[in-house]
Amino acid sequence: MKLPSNQVGISDINTYRDCPVKFEYAIRRWTEGSEPPEAKHRDTMYGSAIHEAIHLAEAEVLTDEEAVQRAFDEFSQYLDPEDMKRLEDDLATYRRRDYRGVRTIANETEVRVPLFKVGGETIYFRGKLDRVYERVDSPGSFIHIDYKSSKWRKTEKEVHEDIQMWAYNMAIFEWWPECQSLTQVYDQLMYGAIPTRKSAAQRAQIKVWLERQVRAILNNQDPKPTFNDWCPYCPLLPDCPEPKRTAEFAAARLSAIAPPEEPDGKLVLDPDLMDVYVAELPELQKAKKAIEEFEAKVKAAIKDMPEAVRAYHGYRLGGRKSDAWTPEALRRAHEIMGDEFYALVKMTKGRVKEYLGSDKPKMEELVARAEKEARQPPVVRLGE
Ligand code: SF4
Repeated sequence: MKLPSNQVGISDINTYRDCPVKFEYAIRRWTEGSEPPEAKHRDTMYGSAIHEAIHLAEAEVLTDEEAVQRAFDEFSQYLDPEDMKRLEDDLATYRRRDYRGVRTIANETEVRVPLFKVGGETIYFRGKLDRVYERVDSPGSFIHIDYKSSKWRKTEKEVHEDIQMWAYNMAIFEWWPECQSLTQVYDQLMYGAIPTRKSAAQRAQIKVWLERQVRAILNNQDPKPTFNDWCPYCPLLPDCPEPKRTAEFAAARLSAIAPPEEPDGKLVLDPDLMDVYVAELPELQKAKKAIEEFEAKVKAAIKDMPEAVRAYHGYRLGGRKSDAWTPEALRRAHEIMGDEFYALVKMTKGRVKEYLGSDKPKMEELVARAEKEARQPPVVRLGE
């Protein structure tokens, strides 16, 4: 494979490790001058927006209000109403944690470090650094801040093992030879800031690891799709055989280990095989998610087809009518049932917000009146 501009970033390497075919598709899009569609997805663009707001607040000395507006100027199509408050809160957190007694070395700065040469050309590791400071009272003492806007909290252990921080540590020492000591801060804006450090031996180790990863990418002349957690969000999903193959395999495996009982075809689990079933569950859930996403995308495409094309594929649009109770019918139902009626109809927070979103005081009063009711607890994997 050929790398655009002979450089690779940590997210490229992670994409390759998830699936070489998706990586190849992504770099082809880069080479052709456009970004891969998933690079600009509503779920990921909040991170870009808050990074931009923080960058501008610092670089152009903007107020929070101005920084939020500038983030909207660039990312408005990806930002929902609740993102305004999130941007304000995250900016306020950034201001609270601002560093004193330092001078700014880098602000959203791209650095690149040579890894090795191949065919006379140098291959670089590239990284974008949110912020690098140098302590005024201790020249050569650097601080690297990596701002994270994710809702998913990372533990200290995860931060110490984070490959991106580790690789950036090496890159900072190479890019600024005057750097003698470095503290990195993994700043989770919704939670807390976790400091981490690396030794010279660890820097040497990550550099060799990066080189081996990138050589593996360059040596791969026949990338194969690899089923992974991100398949449901992959732009290649509708055409990719891998999730379907994995799902078929999972279904075949399931019927081998838990054959449906005759004659009613009901699935009965063998208590002696419980270990096997539990071990299969994560793969089955992944396959199910990918297949559901695939089904939703294909159905949406069928819906958008001209009628004749849809019919050619053997589909039609079903009737749209469903039973519904008008306000008048609901009033009558209440007359018939009395207060039992309230046990029958159910209000949800989502519906209240949808209906009363523009009347915030009324909406908030109603939402505050909801009480927690006991439910069957969902099954969640440890650590999630
Ligand atoms: S759907 Fe999954 S396996 Fe197929 S290309 Fe995308 S990431 Fe790879």
